[in-house]
Amino acid sequence: MKERVTRLVAHLPEKELDAILISSPNNRRYLSGFTGSAGYLFITPQRQVLFTDSRYTEQAGNESPQFEVIRTEPGLGWLTDALKDTGVRRVGFESDVMTVASYNRLLDAIKEEEGLGGTSLIATFGITDELRAFKDQDELAQLQKAIDASDRAMETVCPAIQAGMTEREVAWRMEAAMREFGADNISFGTIVAAGPNGAMAHHRADDTVIRAGEPIVIDMGARVNGYCSDITRTVVVGEPDEMFHKIYNIVLGAQLAAINTVRPGLTGEECDALSRDIIADAGYGDNFGHSLGHGVGLAVHESPRVGPRAENVLRPNMVFTIEPGIYLSGWGGVRIEDIVILGEDGATALSKAGK
Ligand code: ZN
Ligand code: ZN
Repeated sequence: MKERVTRLVAHLPEKELDAILISSPNNRRYLSGFTGSAGYLFITPQRQVLFTDSRYTEQAGNESPQFEVIRTEPGLGWLTDALKDTGVRRVGFESDVMTVASYNRLLDAIKEEEGLGGTSLIATFGITDELRAFKDQDELAQLQKAIDASDRAMETVCPAIQAGMTEREVAWRMEAAMREFGADNISFGTIVAAGPNGAMAHHRADDTVIRAGEPIVIDMGARVNGYCSDITRTVVVGEPDEMFHKIYNIVLGAQLAAINTVRPGLTGEECDALSRDIIADAGYGDNFGHSLGHGVGLAVHESPRVGPRAENVLRPNMVFTIEPGIYLSGWGGVRIEDIVILGEDGATALSKAGK
Protein backbone atom coordinates (compact mmCIF):
# COMPACT_ATOMS: atom_id res chain seq x y z
CA MET A 1 0.00 0.00 0.00
CA LYS A 2 2.84 2.31 0.92
CA GLU A 3 4.37 1.86 -2.50
CA ARG A 4 1.03 2.62 -4.18
CA VAL A 5 0.81 5.93 -2.32
CA THR A 6 4.39 6.73 -3.26
CA ARG A 7 3.58 6.14 -6.94
CA LEU A 8 0.52 8.39 -6.66
CA VAL A 9 2.48 11.17 -4.94
CA ALA A 10 5.05 11.02 -7.74
CA HIS A 11 2.29 12.12 -10.15
CA LEU A 12 1.26 15.22 -8.18
CA PRO A 13 3.91 17.58 -9.65
CA GLU A 14 2.59 16.98 -13.21
CA LYS A 15 -0.50 18.96 -12.30
CA GLU A 16 1.32 21.13 -9.80
CA LEU A 17 -0.78 19.65 -7.03
CA ASP A 18 0.10 19.99 -3.34
CA ALA A 19 -2.47 17.38 -2.35
CA ILE A 20 -5.14 15.11 -3.74
CA LEU A 21 -8.52 14.17 -2.33
CA ILE A 22 -9.58 10.62 -3.21
CA SER A 23 -13.30 9.85 -3.10
CA SER A 24 -13.61 6.81 -5.42
CA PRO A 25 -14.30 3.72 -3.27
CA ASN A 26 -12.01 1.49 -5.37
CA ASN A 27 -9.18 4.04 -5.39
CA ARG A 28 -9.60 4.57 -1.65
CA ARG A 29 -9.32 0.83 -1.11
CA TYR A 30 -6.40 0.45 -3.51
CA LEU A 31 -4.34 3.18 -1.85
CA SER A 32 -5.20 2.57 1.80
CA GLY A 33 -6.57 -0.96 2.16
CA PHE A 34 -9.70 0.49 3.78
CA THR A 35 -12.76 -1.50 2.69
CA GLY A 36 -15.50 0.61 4.32
CA SER A 37 -18.17 2.27 2.21
CA ALA A 38 -17.56 5.89 3.19
CA GLY A 39 -14.54 8.11 3.51
CA TYR A 40 -11.99 10.29 1.80
CA LEU A 41 -8.25 10.03 1.49
CA PHE A 42 -6.34 13.27 1.74
CA ILE A 43 -2.82 12.73 0.47
CA THR A 44 0.10 15.13 0.42
CA PRO A 45 3.78 14.15 0.08
CA GLN A 46 4.08 14.57 3.86
CA ARG A 47 0.72 13.39 5.19
CA GLN A 48 -1.73 10.60 4.44
CA VAL A 49 -5.08 11.04 6.12
CA LEU A 50 -8.14 8.81 5.96
CA PHE A 51 -11.31 10.67 6.88
CA THR A 52 -14.26 8.51 7.80
CA ASP A 53 -17.24 8.59 10.14
CA SER A 54 -17.76 6.89 13.50
CA ARG A 55 -19.10 3.69 11.92
CA TYR A 56 -15.71 3.01 10.41
CA THR A 57 -12.95 4.66 12.45
CA GLU A 58 -11.97 1.46 14.27
CA GLN A 59 -11.99 -0.61 11.06
CA ALA A 60 -10.01 2.08 9.25
CA GLY A 61 -7.34 2.02 11.97
CA ASN A 62 -6.99 -1.74 11.55
CA GLU A 63 -7.04 -1.83 7.76
CA SER A 64 -4.96 1.26 7.03
CA PRO A 65 -2.16 1.46 9.60
CA GLN A 66 -0.04 3.81 7.48
CA PHE A 67 -2.85 6.39 7.30
CA GLU A 68 -3.73 8.86 10.00
CA VAL A 69 -7.43 8.15 10.65
CA ILE A 70 -9.55 11.22 11.43
CA ARG A 71 -13.19 10.89 12.39
CA THR A 72 -15.52 13.14 10.41
CA GLU A 73 -18.42 15.09 11.85
CA PRO A 74 -21.37 16.55 9.94
CA GLY A 75 -20.26 19.51 7.81
CA LEU A 76 -16.86 19.90 6.22
CA GLY A 77 -14.87 21.36 9.14
CA TRP A 78 -12.68 18.22 9.24
CA LEU A 79 -11.53 18.99 5.72
CA THR A 80 -11.07 22.74 6.00
CA ASP A 81 -9.07 22.12 9.19
CA ALA A 82 -6.79 19.72 7.32
CA LEU A 83 -6.37 22.21 4.47
CA LYS A 84 -5.36 24.89 6.96
CA ASP A 85 -3.07 22.57 8.95
CA THR A 86 -1.19 21.42 5.88
CA GLY A 87 -1.13 24.79 4.15
CA VAL A 88 -1.80 23.20 0.76
CA ARG A 89 -3.00 25.47 -2.01
CA ARG A 90 -3.68 23.38 -5.08
CA VAL A 91 -5.85 20.38 -4.13
CA GLY A 92 -6.75 17.82 -6.76
CA PHE A 93 -10.07 16.02 -6.77
CA GLU A 94 -11.33 13.12 -8.89
CA SER A 95 -13.46 14.83 -11.51
CA ASP A 96 -14.96 11.57 -12.76
CA VAL A 97 -16.19 10.59 -9.30
CA MET A 98 -17.07 13.68 -7.28
CA THR A 99 -20.62 14.86 -7.83
CA VAL A 100 -21.33 18.46 -8.78
CA ALA A 101 -23.21 18.82 -5.48
CA SER A 102 -20.21 17.67 -3.43
CA TYR A 103 -17.88 19.89 -5.43
CA ASN A 104 -20.08 22.93 -4.83
CA ARG A 105 -20.34 22.15 -1.11
CA LEU A 106 -16.59 21.86 -0.91
CA LEU A 107 -16.05 25.06 -2.81
CA ASP A 108 -18.45 26.93 -0.52
CA ALA A 109 -16.77 25.57 2.60
CA ILE A 110 -13.37 26.75 1.36
CA LYS A 111 -14.73 30.19 0.44
CA GLU A 112 -16.40 30.66 3.80
CA GLU A 113 -13.34 29.59 5.79
CA GLU A 114 -10.99 32.36 6.74
CA GLY A 115 -7.41 31.69 5.80
CA LEU A 116 -8.19 29.50 2.79
CA GLY A 117 -8.29 32.33 0.26
CA GLY A 118 -5.42 30.87 -1.76
CA THR A 119 -6.78 27.31 -1.88
CA SER A 120 -8.14 26.02 -5.16
CA LEU A 121 -9.69 22.75 -6.26
CA ILE A 122 -8.14 21.24 -9.39
CA ALA A 123 -9.93 18.64 -11.49
CA THR A 124 -7.91 15.46 -12.08
CA PHE A 125 -8.83 12.49 -14.19
CA GLY A 126 -7.75 8.87 -13.88
CA ILE A 127 -4.45 9.30 -12.00
CA THR A 128 -5.05 6.41 -9.58
CA ASP A 129 -6.94 4.45 -12.22
CA GLU A 130 -3.84 4.41 -14.39
CA LEU A 131 -1.76 3.09 -11.49
CA ARG A 132 -4.35 0.36 -10.96
CA ALA A 133 -3.88 -0.90 -14.52
CA PHE A 134 -0.58 -2.46 -13.33
CA LYS A 135 -1.17 -5.31 -10.90
CA ASP A 136 1.23 -6.09 -8.06
CA GLN A 137 1.80 -9.54 -6.56
CA ASP A 138 -0.81 -9.16 -3.84
CA GLU A 139 -3.43 -8.09 -6.37
CA LEU A 140 -2.57 -10.96 -8.70
CA ALA A 141 -3.03 -13.44 -5.86
CA GLN A 142 -6.52 -12.09 -5.08
CA LEU A 143 -7.44 -11.90 -8.75
CA GLN A 144 -6.40 -15.50 -9.31
CA LYS A 145 -8.68 -16.66 -6.49
CA ALA A 146 -11.62 -14.91 -8.17
CA ILE A 147 -10.67 -16.37 -11.55
CA ASP A 148 -10.34 -19.88 -10.09
CA ALA A 149 -13.79 -19.63 -8.50
CA SER A 150 -15.50 -18.74 -11.79
CA ASP A 151 -13.40 -21.27 -13.76
CA ARG A 152 -14.41 -24.08 -11.43
CA ALA A 153 -18.07 -23.01 -11.50
CA MET A 154 -18.00 -22.97 -15.30
CA GLU A 155 -16.42 -26.43 -15.44
CA THR A 156 -18.79 -27.91 -12.88
CA VAL A 157 -22.09 -26.41 -14.00
CA CYS A 158 -21.77 -26.43 -17.81
CA PRO A 159 -21.92 -30.24 -18.11
CA ALA A 160 -25.09 -30.22 -15.97
CA ILE A 161 -27.05 -27.78 -18.14
CA GLN A 162 -30.05 -29.49 -19.74
CA ALA A 163 -32.73 -28.58 -22.22
CA GLY A 164 -35.80 -27.36 -20.33
CA MET A 165 -33.87 -25.38 -17.70
CA THR A 166 -34.36 -21.63 -17.74
CA GLU A 167 -31.54 -19.12 -18.13
CA ARG A 168 -32.31 -18.00 -14.60
CA GLU A 169 -31.78 -21.50 -13.19
CA VAL A 170 -28.42 -21.79 -14.93
CA ALA A 171 -27.38 -18.36 -13.64
CA TRP A 172 -28.31 -19.32 -10.09
CA ARG A 173 -26.38 -22.60 -10.29
CA MET A 174 -23.34 -20.69 -11.55
CA GLU A 175 -23.61 -18.11 -8.79
CA ALA A 176 -24.03 -20.77 -6.09
CA ALA A 177 -21.05 -22.69 -7.47
CA MET A 178 -18.86 -19.58 -7.50
CA ARG A 179 -19.71 -19.03 -3.83
CA GLU A 180 -18.92 -22.67 -3.05
CA PHE A 181 -15.56 -22.28 -4.76
CA GLY A 182 -14.53 -19.29 -2.67
CA ALA A 183 -16.25 -16.20 -4.08
CA ASP A 184 -17.34 -13.53 -1.59
CA ASN A 185 -19.88 -12.36 -4.11
CA ILE A 186 -20.50 -12.13 -7.83
CA SER A 187 -18.75 -9.32 -9.68
CA PHE A 188 -21.71 -8.41 -11.94
CA GLY A 189 -25.16 -9.72 -12.88
CA THR A 190 -24.69 -13.13 -14.50
CA ILE A 191 -25.44 -13.27 -18.23
CA VAL A 192 -27.02 -16.45 -19.56
CA ALA A 193 -28.29 -15.86 -23.10
CA ALA A 194 -29.84 -18.85 -24.87
CA GLY A 195 -30.52 -19.01 -28.61
CA PRO A 196 -31.64 -15.71 -30.14
CA ASN A 197 -31.09 -13.92 -26.79
CA GLY A 198 -27.37 -14.41 -27.39
CA ALA A 199 -27.52 -11.89 -30.22
CA MET A 200 -27.76 -9.24 -27.48
CA ALA A 201 -24.28 -9.02 -26.03
CA HIS A 202 -25.50 -8.11 -22.53
CA HIS A 203 -28.79 -9.98 -22.22
CA ARG A 204 -29.51 -10.75 -18.55
CA ALA A 205 -30.66 -14.23 -17.53
CA ASP A 206 -34.47 -14.44 -17.60
CA ASP A 207 -37.17 -17.12 -17.85
CA THR A 208 -36.23 -18.16 -21.39
CA VAL A 209 -36.16 -21.96 -21.62
CA ILE A 210 -32.98 -23.54 -22.94
CA ARG A 211 -33.47 -25.72 -26.01
CA ALA A 212 -31.15 -28.37 -27.43
CA GLY A 213 -28.92 -27.29 -30.28
CA GLU A 214 -28.93 -23.57 -29.50
CA PRO A 215 -25.82 -21.61 -28.48
CA ILE A 216 -25.84 -20.41 -24.85
CA VAL A 217 -23.59 -17.48 -23.97
CA ILE A 218 -22.62 -17.48 -20.29
CA ASP A 219 -20.70 -14.44 -19.02
CA MET A 220 -20.06 -14.16 -15.31
CA GLY A 221 -17.59 -13.28 -12.61
CA ALA A 222 -16.69 -13.84 -8.99
CA ARG A 223 -15.37 -11.31 -6.50
CA VAL A 224 -12.74 -12.22 -3.88
CA ASN A 225 -11.31 -9.64 -1.47
CA GLY A 226 -12.58 -6.93 -3.80
CA TYR A 227 -11.02 -8.36 -6.97
CA CYS A 228 -13.27 -9.34 -9.88
CA SER A 229 -13.11 -12.12 -12.40
CA ASP A 230 -14.89 -12.07 -15.74
CA ILE A 231 -15.22 -15.08 -18.02
CA THR A 232 -17.42 -16.01 -20.97
CA ARG A 233 -18.03 -19.41 -22.46
CA THR A 234 -20.49 -20.37 -25.19
CA VAL A 235 -21.91 -23.89 -24.94
CA VAL A 236 -24.61 -26.02 -26.58
CA VAL A 237 -26.86 -28.70 -25.11
CA GLY A 238 -26.90 -31.64 -27.51
CA GLU A 239 -25.81 -31.24 -31.13
CA PRO A 240 -24.93 -27.78 -32.42
CA ASP A 241 -25.91 -26.76 -35.95
CA GLU A 242 -23.46 -26.13 -38.81
CA MET A 243 -23.63 -22.42 -38.16
CA PHE A 244 -22.41 -22.89 -34.62
CA HIS A 245 -19.32 -24.80 -35.69
CA LYS A 246 -18.50 -22.13 -38.22
CA ILE A 247 -19.04 -19.12 -35.94
CA TYR A 248 -17.44 -20.73 -32.90
CA ASN A 249 -14.27 -21.53 -34.81
CA ILE A 250 -13.96 -17.98 -36.13
CA VAL A 251 -14.39 -16.48 -32.65
CA LEU A 252 -12.03 -18.96 -31.00
CA GLY A 253 -9.43 -18.40 -33.72
CA ALA A 254 -9.73 -14.64 -33.28
CA GLN A 255 -9.42 -14.94 -29.50
CA LEU A 256 -6.38 -17.22 -29.58
CA ALA A 257 -4.71 -15.02 -32.19
CA ALA A 258 -4.98 -12.00 -29.89
CA ILE A 259 -3.84 -13.92 -26.80
CA ASN A 260 -0.88 -15.41 -28.66
CA THR A 261 0.31 -12.29 -30.45
CA VAL A 262 -0.40 -9.31 -28.17
CA ARG A 263 2.87 -7.73 -27.02
CA PRO A 264 3.86 -4.87 -24.74
CA GLY A 265 4.05 -1.65 -26.74
CA LEU A 266 0.86 -2.23 -28.72
CA THR A 267 -1.96 0.21 -28.10
CA GLY A 268 -5.36 -1.00 -26.99
CA GLU A 269 -6.57 -0.32 -30.52
CA GLU A 270 -3.79 -2.42 -32.07
CA CYS A 271 -4.58 -5.28 -29.70
CA ASP A 272 -8.27 -5.02 -30.60
CA ALA A 273 -7.38 -5.31 -34.28
CA LEU A 274 -5.61 -8.65 -33.70
CA SER A 275 -9.03 -10.26 -33.27
CA ARG A 276 -11.20 -7.80 -35.16
CA ASP A 277 -9.35 -8.19 -38.46
CA ILE A 278 -9.86 -11.98 -38.38
CA ILE A 279 -13.58 -11.59 -37.72
CA ALA A 280 -13.88 -8.94 -40.43
CA ASP A 281 -11.96 -11.08 -42.94
CA ALA A 282 -14.41 -13.91 -42.23
CA GLY A 283 -17.23 -11.55 -43.18
CA TYR A 284 -18.61 -10.80 -39.70
CA GLY A 285 -17.02 -7.42 -38.94
CA ASP A 286 -20.44 -5.81 -38.55
CA ASN A 287 -21.48 -8.49 -36.06
CA PHE A 288 -18.75 -7.70 -33.52
CA GLY A 289 -19.90 -4.39 -32.10
CA HIS A 290 -18.11 -4.14 -28.77
CA SER A 291 -14.51 -3.66 -27.68
CA LEU A 292 -12.21 -6.66 -27.63
CA GLY A 293 -11.55 -6.34 -23.93
CA HIS A 294 -11.03 -4.20 -20.84
CA GLY A 295 -8.84 -4.02 -17.78
CA VAL A 296 -10.13 -5.85 -14.72
CA GLY A 297 -9.23 -5.67 -11.04
CA LEU A 298 -11.07 -3.98 -8.18
CA ALA A 299 -13.57 -2.93 -10.85
CA VAL A 300 -14.85 -5.31 -13.47
CA HIS A 301 -14.18 -2.66 -16.10
CA GLU A 302 -11.09 -0.51 -15.58
CA SER A 303 -7.89 0.62 -17.28
CA PRO A 304 -6.42 -0.23 -19.72
CA ARG A 305 -8.92 0.18 -22.53
CA VAL A 306 -8.71 -2.45 -25.27
CA GLY A 307 -10.86 -1.44 -28.21
CA PRO A 308 -11.16 0.74 -31.29
CA ARG A 309 -9.76 4.22 -30.54
CA ALA A 310 -8.05 3.02 -27.33
CA GLU A 311 -4.75 4.89 -27.52
CA ASN A 312 -3.33 3.65 -24.21
CA VAL A 313 -0.18 1.55 -24.61
CA LEU A 314 -0.27 -1.96 -23.15
CA ARG A 315 2.60 -2.66 -20.74
CA PRO A 316 3.89 -5.61 -18.71
CA ASN A 317 1.85 -6.40 -15.57
CA MET A 318 -1.34 -5.04 -17.06
CA VAL A 319 -4.30 -7.41 -16.74
CA PHE A 320 -7.19 -7.32 -19.21
CA THR A 321 -9.79 -9.48 -20.90
CA ILE A 322 -9.81 -10.71 -24.49
CA GLU A 323 -13.40 -11.38 -25.52
CA PRO A 324 -14.28 -11.32 -29.20
CA GLY A 325 -17.84 -12.21 -30.20
CA ILE A 326 -20.12 -12.58 -33.19
CA TYR A 327 -23.82 -11.78 -32.81
CA LEU A 328 -26.44 -12.76 -35.37
CA SER A 329 -29.96 -11.45 -34.94
CA GLY A 330 -32.52 -14.27 -34.77
CA TRP A 331 -29.87 -16.97 -34.32
CA GLY A 332 -27.79 -16.01 -31.29
CA GLY A 333 -24.22 -15.25 -30.37
CA VAL A 334 -20.83 -16.68 -29.60
CA ARG A 335 -18.42 -14.93 -27.25
CA ILE A 336 -15.31 -16.35 -25.59
CA GLU A 337 -13.59 -14.37 -22.85
CA ASP A 338 -10.49 -14.91 -20.78
CA ILE A 339 -8.45 -12.69 -18.50
CA VAL A 340 -4.78 -12.40 -19.47
CA ILE A 341 -1.73 -10.83 -17.90
CA LEU A 342 0.80 -9.18 -20.15
CA GLY A 343 4.46 -10.09 -19.60
CA GLU A 344 7.63 -8.90 -21.36
CA ASP A 345 7.19 -11.54 -24.08
CA GLY A 346 3.43 -11.66 -24.43
CA ALA A 347 0.22 -12.59 -22.69
CA THR A 348 -0.64 -15.51 -20.43
CA ALA A 349 -4.25 -16.53 -19.85
CA LEU A 350 -5.13 -16.57 -16.16
CA SER A 351 -8.44 -18.38 -16.71
CA LYS A 352 -8.21 -22.07 -17.45
CA ALA A 353 -11.80 -23.27 -17.96
CA GLY A 354 -12.09 -25.40 -21.10
CA LYS A 355 -13.29 -23.87 -24.35
ZN1 ZN B 1 -17.58 -10.82 -19.32
ZN1 ZN C 1 -15.52 -8.62 -19.92
